[in-house]
Amino acid sequence: MSRIVSVAVPVPALDVLTYRWPEGAPAPVVGARVDVPLGPRRLTGIVVATDITPDPAMKLREVLAVRDETAFVPPALVTLATWVADYYVAGPGDVLTSALPPRVLTGDVTTFKRRRVARLTALGADAAARVAVDPACLSPADAGAPRLGARQREALTLLAGVPAGLPASVLAGRGVSSATLTRLVQCGFVAIHHEAVSRDPFAAHASVLDDSGPPVLTGEQRAALDVLEPLADAAAYRVALLKGVTGSGKTEIYLALADRMRRQGRRALLLVPEIALTPALAGRVRARFGERVAIQHSGLSDGERHDQWHRVRAGQVDVVVGTRSAVFAPFASVGLIVVDEEHDTSYKQDEMPRYHGRDVAIVRGRQQDALVVLGSATPSLESFHNAQRGRYTLVSLERRVADRPMADVHVVNMREEWAAAGADVTLSRVLIEGIEQRLAAGEQALVLLNRRGISSAVLCRQCGNTIECPHCSVSMTVHGTGRRARARCHYCDFAQAVPEACPQCAAPYLEHLGVGTERVEQDLAARFPAARIGRVDRDTVSTRGSLTAILARFGRRELDVLVGTQMIAKGHDFPFVTLVGVVSADVGLGLPDFRAAERTFQLITQVVGRAGRGERRGEACVQTFFPTHYAVRCGCAQDYATFVTKELEFRTALRYPPVTAMINVVVRGTTLEQALDAAGALAREVARGIAGRPIALLGPAPAPLMKLRGEHRAQFFVKGGDRGLMNAAVRGALAAHPALARRTSIDVDPVSML
Ligand code: ADP
Ligand code: ZN
Repeated sequence: MSRIVSVAVPVPALDVLTYRWPEGAPAPVVGARVDVPLGPRRLTGIVVATDITPDPAMKLREVLAVRDETAFVPPALVTLATWVADYYVAGPGDVLTSALPPRVLTGDVTTFKRRRVARLTALGADAAARVAVDPACLSPADAGAPRLGARQREALTLLAGVPAGLPASVLAGRGVSSATLTRLVQCGFVAIHHEAVSRDPFAAHASVLDDSGPPVLTGEQRAALDVLEPLADAAAYRVALLKGVTGSGKTEIYLALADRMRRQGRRALLLVPEIALTPALAGRVRARFGERVAIQHSGLSDGERHDQWHRVRAGQVDVVVGTRSAVFAPFASVGLIVVDEEHDTSYKQDEMPRYHGRDVAIVRGRQQDALVVLGSATPSLESFHNAQRGRYTLVSLERRVADRPMADVHVVNMREEWAAAGADVTLSRVLIEGIEQRLAAGEQALVLLNRRGISSAVLCRQCGNTIECPHCSVSMTVHGTGRRARARCHYCDFAQAVPEACPQCAAPYLEHLGVGTERVEQDLAARFPAARIGRVDRDTVSTRGSLTAILARFGRRELDVLVGTQMIAKGHDFPFVTLVGVVSADVGLGLPDFRAAERTFQLITQVVGRAGRGERRGEACVQTFFPTHYAVRCGCAQDYATFVTKELEFRTALRYPPVTAMINVVVRGTTLEQALDAAGALAREVARGIAGRPIALLGPAPAPLMKLRGEHRAQFFVKGGDRGLMNAAVRGALAAHPALARRTSIDVDPVSML
């Protein structure tokens, strides 16, 4: 009787598959890579369970090739990925694909090999590539092996004598061409491994590598560590919420804890929300701890990602710094997981699998008996609620390092400004005056506006029509001026010339509404021709590394004013910034999203917190049309306590998270009617699954983003306290309508309601 295993394969939304283990092959282990048949295809997947009891009625196919005798993916990570797939109603293969470096799992082994070889060729003399006879492939494939040519046999004989393999450069030197290698890899005789770290992602950040060692901790930092250190030492699951005002020195606490773990021979994982923040923190960690540090984020090249992953996997690393996906860093076990800026929405992946990095970090901590530290000046309502209920240990830092004062905040009512200076004013008198002073004093200013472009909508004053994207139900944003002006869709990137007359009524009275960062930059340049102005938004930092480059220039004071979207509001520490301007503090308040106030509060608090982080006192100027809105008021006052009390009242009254859980189900269709019909069919099935339980079903209704990239969208929400049951009901609905599954996206704990 042969053994049965289940395997996760990289096919979207597919559950694990069951196969017979080949007779005579080494015993199966969880985490090993295997090639399996699926229909006519050959896929590479990961063994997620061994010794399955099969359904006797089912005819099972056999694993085609066993690539590893030991776990390639640490079993702890397989357990975590399985949890993620289950909780977020995603395929385990999807989760493992996002957890692993590119192309470890592949949907088609033939392309897989071709790509690997292509990379080898591209690497040229790169000593990191090592070619070896692959024992796993050689034996079973032998019998049916296609005949080899003389060159290929020669190369194989050469390689067979060196079990550890030879660097690609050596092989090239011995006249083995890449075509020969391609053939051998395709036949499954040799494998290419990438070793050694010849690519150093830290190289670009050498300037931040000098670190004078840990500073003398402040009293508050010491007190916080007195609470956190015993939790870290206990090697038991615990979550701590480190709530510390901006500039209170949270990073020092993370470093002290990571250092403590390292000295105990345990591992630490530091997560940050933004790629641009990784090199800065990684540089500091590297300077403090030396070589045994790795960096993981999606901005690295494929080669770098492989290098870093294998170093961690091989136990050569104590501390990993990275963005969301680094929560899956291949440590066999971990003692500390830090989630910096835990409230940040970029921790949520907005495509399948739609996991939340912070929540996965917490689950990983629970599975591996680790301390999880969530840090923020503006904790999410979810985390704060858990701390209030005693689930998390709350640790607070109330003061800035060296007792630096918080910025003085001026709130400018833009209604009054418009009454005084006209409705096309973007920069208030207070803000202009403030920038003038900074330029004169050789200090710096940050100007935030959470919207790109010149104007955010084009409106016909005669018929009231706004110019919409032909593929999406959103208004087009204008970018560029004069002949270079284009109307662009921020969702699908469709662009067209800005019409001179209304396409609907032909009237020539088109008005541009709402300003964006590009317009603010222009206005600043017109006002301050001698100032060095930089801009950071998705238009200027589309290429890898450009955000880091602009921020570095600003850090070296080669720019006086930096204009940007929320990218500039996050964790950066610029000691010469003494003025922060927020152009439209309330752009987010109008969105149909119950978290609109929370986002606005966080954004204002974070950006105001960027001012005055050095020796000099800071000032902030917040322009708004709603100066009395509680999100604006509390943000300006950096008053978390008042905000959170008010916001929790609202969430409780309307039964929104964190007092309840939500799943957002979006169904796409070629017409809205079709999408609504399909959503209706799924919703009826969900209703059956939750009948008689205190769970609500809202919708189906057209989604706020009714049309996206030419597809119509309908949505419904499942809302209630019993996540297990809600999850099962949604799964049941998909199983009952398999044809709809491809058109449906499930978002558990959504952060976007659109
Ligand atoms: P936060 O993450 O809480 O906003 P940071 O950790 O970035 O704050 O610290 C703010 C600034 O204070 C940084 O420049 C940091 O180097 C400095 N700093 C932190 N702790 C100390 C300390 N104990 N003594 C002196 N400077 C410190
Ligand atoms: Zn569009």
